[in-house]
Amino acid sequence: MFDKILVANRGEIALRVIRAAREMGIQSVAVHSTADADAMHVRMADESVCIGPPPGTDSYLSIPSIIAACAVTGAQAIHPGYGFLSENANFVQIVEDHDLTFIGPRAEHIRIMGDKITAKDTMKDLGVPCVPGSEGGVPDLAMAKRLGEEIGYPVIVKATAGGGGRGMKVAETAADLERAFMTARSEAKAAFGNDEVYIEKYLTTPRHIEIQVFGDGKGHAVHLGERDCSLQRRHQKVFEEAPGPSITDEERARIGKICSDAVAKIDYAGAGTIEFLYENGEFYFIEMNTRLQVEHPVTEAIFGVDLVQEQIRVAEGRPMSFTQDDLIINGHAIEVRINAEKLPEFSPRPGKITQFHAPGGLGVRMDSALYDGYSIPPYYDSLIGKLIVHGRDRHAALARLNRALGELIVDGVDTTVPLFHALLQEEDIQSGNYNIHWLEKWLETNLQG
Ligand code: ADP
Repeated sequence: MFDKILVANRGEIALRVIRAAREMGIQSVAVHSTADADAMHVRMADESVCIGPPPGTDSYLSIPSIIAACAVTGAQAIHPGYGFLSENANFVQIVEDHDLTFIGPRAEHIRIMGDKITAKDTMKDLGVPCVPGSEGGVPDLAMAKRLGEEIGYPVIVKATAGGGGRGMKVAETAADLERAFMTARSEAKAAFGNDEVYIEKYLTTPRHIEIQVFGDGKGHAVHLGERDCSLQRRHQKVFEEAPGPSITDEERARIGKICSDAVAKIDYAGAGTIEFLYENGEFYFIEMNTRLQVEHPVTEAIFGVDLVQEQIRVAEGRPMSFTQDDLIINGHAIEVRINAEKLPEFSPRPGKITQFHAPGGLGVRMDSALYDGYSIPPYYDSLIGKLIVHGRDRHAALARLNRALGELIVDGVDTTVPLFHALLQEEDIQSGNYNIHWLEKWLETNLQG
């Protein structure tokens, strides 16, 4: 069992891990850049180590500094949070080579899921339904055209090395394909140094449904249902809920079992998320994230589990604390992501917080590293808090979200809070009637400068 773990991250997720460790009687070490010397995660951890100057590449992504911080403090394991080094297979290898434990899956699984074609092939072999498309990469236009006819338009050309929504182009018809193919290839080359692309059927009105899985690394795994994260802007999630308003108990049981069986078969360890597009009752795999997700608290709320403590347990080599039969959904949870951004452009607004008041009361959780007088540094992403509400059903959760947003005070910077006040007025949000394009369309008509 661990006595001390190092948290290789910052912001709300670093606090999340420190809190989980403390309840388990484990000491925590924070690492920080010089820009984060006064950050909440540094104050809250038992010890802290400065690992470099402000840019992430010189601090939170600096593998030698993080390994050295473990040596200096005697930390036995590293929790990577999300982002930064959380899906870097090379980092995991180095951690293990230094006789430290990575709190997460094995390097091999991170590597497989980091390459989109390998990930899709692996999932297909494991019985997970995938979007119809090419078998592997598509080297030339002639083959792309043949596939376009076979699959049927519209199709989407995607970079094998893709991420963050880059290197993806839709061809509505055969006439569009040459342009889509060439642009996706050159974007992929520029962004990832690898111009390999593949082709898939383009789904026109899907929802984004993701399944939370958890494995013990020894052939046992469970699923914790789905999250609906269809409300997105530029492929970035802004509002997430569990359970998904469109998913039936039968569908959840079926796709959940497919996912838990798949990860059990590869001896997957720890938390993972299998992402799907969902249209007309069918699930289509798009990618797997081999880490804790930003939106994990909605799953924690409805199942009453602590996913971070579970990650630590499994990393210690202990069995999971729950079985599939223990996992029973209780109520409904919603998370909204509060970013320091100015609407309608969503431009980042770092700056000094003059007043911060977190909402409270029954069924309200605020994960945030803000405090009165804190200065948000300009070097990192703009997420400054997550407000999570839990109610006995979806209607109660929406009412609670409305109430909690009303109590929240973040003064000194612009935030995305007004967006959520406006969204709660919408009939489609109240009824759960939205797909992955809904928010972009709504923003076009409702938030024009
Ligand atoms: P990235 O890793 O770059 O985020 P993903 O494969 O996860 O790429 O896809 C990101 C988003 O692009 C999806 O959430 C969805 O909105 C859209 N997308 C990807 N593939 C398809 C598809 N076959 N049909 C429709 N939309 C798609």
